[in-house]
Order: sequence, then structure tokens, then C-alpha cells
Amino acid sequence: MDTLDLYIGGAFTPATGGGSFERANPVTGATATQAAAATQEDAARAVEAAAAAFPEWSATPPAQRRRTLLAAAEALAAKSDAIVAAMKAETGATEAWARFNCMLAGEMLIEAAGLVTQVKGEIIPSNRPGTTAYALRQPAGVVLAMAPWNAPVILGVRAIATPLACGNTVVMKTSELCPRTHALIIEAVAEAGFPAGAVNAISNAPEDAPGIVETLIVHPAVRRVNFTGSTRVGRIIAESCGRHLKPALLERGGKAPMIVLDDADLDAAVAAAGFGAYMNQGQICMSTERIIVVDAVADAFVEKLAAKVESLTAGDPEEAAHPLGAMIDAAAAERVRGLIEDATQKGARLIAGGGEGVLMNASALDRVTPQMRLYSEESFGPVAAVIRAADTDEAVRIANDSEFGLAAAVFGRDTARAMAVARRVESGICHVNGPTVHDEAQMPFGGVKQSGHGRFGGIWGVQEFTELRWITLQDGDLHFPI
Ligand code: NAD
Repeated sequence: MDTLDLYIGGAFTPATGGGSFERANPVTGATATQAAAATQEDAARAVEAAAAAFPEWSATPPAQRRRTLLAAAEALAAKSDAIVAAMKAETGATEAWARFNCMLAGEMLIEAAGLVTQVKGEIIPSNRPGTTAYALRQPAGVVLAMAPWNAPVILGVRAIATPLACGNTVVMKTSELCPRTHALIIEAVAEAGFPAGAVNAISNAPEDAPGIVETLIVHPAVRRVNFTGSTRVGRIIAESCGRHLKPALLERGGKAPMIVLDDADLDAAVAAAGFGAYMNQGQICMSTERIIVVDAVADAFVEKLAAKVESLTAGDPEEAAHPLGAMIDAAAAERVRGLIEDATQKGARLIAGGGEGVLMNASALDRVTPQMRLYSEESFGPVAAVIRAADTDEAVRIANDSEFGLAAAVFGRDTARAMAVARRVESGICHVNGPTVHDEAQMPFGGVKQSGHGRFGGIWGVQEFTELRWITLQDGDLHFPI
């Protein structure tokens, strides 16, 4: 099997010393990918290549930057079949999830292409006669981009597209769990015609991640960091960025609540819960983890939910016969089983569920309470907790009784009331009469509380990856007190 190279300074190159690591197929255990294990020296080289490319790329006219990003979107689309195969082999994803990843990632590149002319400024009235004062946005420099495996194409592209649109250069640290999928993004970008060094990518052995990440963050040329991943590692990244005073956009874990009010369309709510809780085996940061149902409709809702959940079986994605694929690894499946066991031991009722090894069917538990780990811990798996609430106010209180705050949903036919509920939910994102899982390239995407800070998407992403400068032009007719 070929070893995937690093991509530094416009060239595909092995790691210094020739080290590599393997990623196993979660279903079969066979080696899916072998990839270069970058050293800290390679990490520093990647940043230096990006720093060297910054003057050229940041000065490239917006029309040319736009053409290059659009070419990357086309190159990515041309690699869809290879990406689908890589996602199935490396992450156990279904064909549907892999194709959706390719589609939305392409849209993110197209949206980024539209942002190249949004790096602009304003004129501010100055108190000093003869002065024109500008607030100007400029590219920040080298951006370090780190993306996870769960929506690997969407999040990998998201990590680099807006930074590049703004005129920054990037170093992407790919995920150890999907090095081939991430490498295909880089290959597409490499074909698009960015100047050498504008885009760099390094893969690393899992045990080397802390040293590599620290090397990247510390490097003086790195001016922005973006990280999508767990809250645990996000905190490590935030601490390191804090120590080195680097601004960081952090997209971390979630525990999305979906509130079902007493006037909700229960069929619509169940359909949204089925998709929101179990798409990609519940391994989405926006996955519906808590379904908070007011008592008046709880029995009817749970009955309908049980029928839906029972239909959501898991299978080897290579066989394409099941709506769910594999969990990312055995440890993740064991963790989810542990959460289910803890909840049932403490009195929750298993509505549906089962499956073996990494092939876990959808599960749902009714009457989950705060004493159960499932109430508060992110499961990141195909299990949803139904929590019953006495009324609307209690439903809102439960929704906010979480350290997380990424996505949320509210179902209710009285849309004014549902909207008022949405405004009281502590989350970055909330959908009324829609599932918690919903992403579009132009939307402000991000969380509150432990789920993160900063926003990807549209003009808000431009604000993250540019410096806002105050520049004045004065007429020289100045009078000073001394
Ligand atoms: P993870 O945090 O375990 O891993 C992310 C990266 O962190 C890995 O590539 C790894 O190399 C690196 N890492 C591990 N240990 C490190 C250390 N000590 N120092 C520095 N870096 C280290 O996340 P994951 O398992 O890949 O992704 C799943 C998580 O991501 C879930 O919690 C999910 O909710 C979250 N997520 C969030 C969003 C969002 O937009 N908010 C989107 C998708 C996933």
C-alpha cells in the first residue's frame, strides 16, 4: 500500500525520516490507509512554506482568488467517488453521508469564492480636520486549520476555504482517523492552481498530535488557529493559544436539545428526530442528543419515535443496505453502550436499540433523568434521550441545563410561541420546526458555552480570518500642544 505524503510548499513529500502510521477500517479491521507521520520539523517547515507564500497569495487580485476557489470546487466534485470510497473505508460512513459531505463542501468553496470581495472596509468620521480615517480588513497571515473525521470533507474544507478566500495561507493538520479523505481535499486544492505554499497539509501519528499541534501554534508566523473537535482537545488548544496569545476559532462538542411543545406536529417532529439523532450514527456535532417533550404529548410522541427508531438499522457501508453505517471505532461503540447501560440501570426505558460491535442500530431511551450520564455527556453515537418536561418553561430549563450550546430545535404549530422559546434556548443555532442537524455555507455557524466561540460561515468567517486595521490619511496641517 502506498503511503500518503505530506503536502508542503506545493510538493507532495514523505515525512522527515520516512515515518508513517495506519488507519484501520472500523468494520473489517484491515488497513484502510497508510499515511506519512509528520515530525515537528515537518510541521515547522509547513508553516514556513505558508509564510513564504503569504505575500503572493494575499496580493493576488480577488478575481483570481475567486477563480482558484471555484477550480478547487470543481476538482473536489471530480473526486467524489474516491472520497466516498475513502470515507467508507476510513470512517464507516454511509454512501449518503459521504455524498452529502462532497456536495456541501463544494458549496463551501463556492461560497468562499463569493467572499473574496467582502474583505473590505469603511470610512469613519474623524474629529481631526483634514483626516480621512479607514477601518480596513486585511488577511491575517498563516492560518492553522484542524478538522475532525466525522464530517471530514465539510469540516476539512470549512477549515481552509474562508481563510484562503481572505488571502491567508494555510496549514491543515489532517485527522489521524481519515488521512486519505483529508488528503483528497488537499489533492483537489493542489490541482486548482494556488501558488506553491498557499496550502500545506500534514498528517501525523496519533501519539505525535500534542507535540505537532504545539509546534504549529507556537510558530510566530501562525496568526490564527481554527479547531473543530472535542471539547476536551478544544480546551487544550485554547490553553495553548491563550499562552501564546493566538486568536482561535473553536468549534467543539454538543448535546443538542430538540424541544417538542404540546402543539407540535408529532409526525414532523419524529421525522426530524430520526434524521437529527441518527444521521451518520449520531456522530455529528449538531446531533439531536436530548429530545425534551412536554408531558401532554410525550406518550404519543414516544410511540411514534419507537417505530421510527426500530427502522434505523446499521450495516457495513460497503453493502449499502442500511440507513446507518459503522461507528468510528470499537471504543466509541463501547462508550455509547456504557451510556445506555448506565441509563437503563438507573430507570430509563429502552424504546429500541441493539446491534453488535461497531454496527450499532439506532437506540432511544425514555424517561432519562439528570442522574444518568446520558443526560449530560455527549454520546456522539446513535442514541437519543427522551426527557419529559411538565410544561414549556420546564422544557426550556432542561434544554439550558447543559454545559454545551451548539445546535437546538423547537417544534410547535404556534410559531410565535415556538420562536419565543427558540430565543430563550442557550445555543449558537436553533431551528423552529426543523432538525438540529442543518448546515449551510453562508450561515453563522458556531456555539456558545463549552461548544465553542467564533463563527464560520459567510461574512462572519471573514471577520474571524482578517485583521481589522485603523489607518488614517492626514493633510499634515497639524498643531501639537508641545
Ligand atoms: P478530537 O478532539 O478527539 O480530535 C481532534 C484532533 O485533536 C485530532 O486530529 C488530534 O490530532 C488532536 N489532538 C488529540 N489530542 C491532542 C492533544 N493532546 N493536543 C493537541 N491536539 C490533540 O475530536 P474528534 O474525535 O476528531 O471529533 C469529534 C468531536 O468533534 C465531537 O466532540 C464533536 O462534537 C466535535 N465536533 C464539533 C463540530 C463543531 O462544528 N462544533 C463539528 C464536528 C465535530
